[in-house]
Amino acid sequence: MDTFINLFIFFLTIYAIFKFIINPFFRWLFLPFFDPIAAAERKQKREARFKKLKDELALIEEKKLIEDNERIYDHKLCAYCHSYSLTKLEEKVGEAFWRYANLNGSQDMRRRNINYQLAGLLADHRCRDCGAITLFSYYASDSPSTDAPIFSRLLLKDSPNENIKKIGYNWPSTDD
Ligand SMILES: [Zn+2]
Repeated sequence: MDTFINLFIFFLTIYAIFKFIINPFFRWLFLPFFDPIAAAERKQKREARFKKLKDELALIEEKKLIEDNERIYDHKLCAYCHSYSLTKLEEKVGEAFWRYANLNGSQDMRRRNINYQLAGLLADHRCRDCGAITLFSYYASDSPSTDAPIFSRLLLKDSPNENIKKIGYNWPSTDD
């Protein structure tokens, strides 16, 4: 009787291995021969998963590039494609004002020895990569220059090329 039970368990084990391991494995391996439609669906799903992963990676990469650019180029970037490759078009120096001024704008004579005049500067730049135009506002200075740091950038004109993705933005953000 024992032998019979042992034999039964042995065959049951063999059957289970075939049924639940070897058969599904071979079906998976040779699915294109059994069921081309299911195989195509499987391939499509795999490709969709892969594409999603690739897109996620691209987004991470893009975010990192944006952060790096903001830091390295001190926000002097195309507000459309976030390129740093820009050509200055026109600059306009704002009206000069005294560092120490009275309420009416005239010079504060008590500080005339240390007083000096300041002026802000605006300059628009065309992006060499996408053609968009961005306006930079520079901090007021006694010697206004486009080499100075900016305090804002504003997109004046979108890129004429619709194939270029807009990843740039106004800075500081005007959304909120
Ligand atoms: Zn650009």
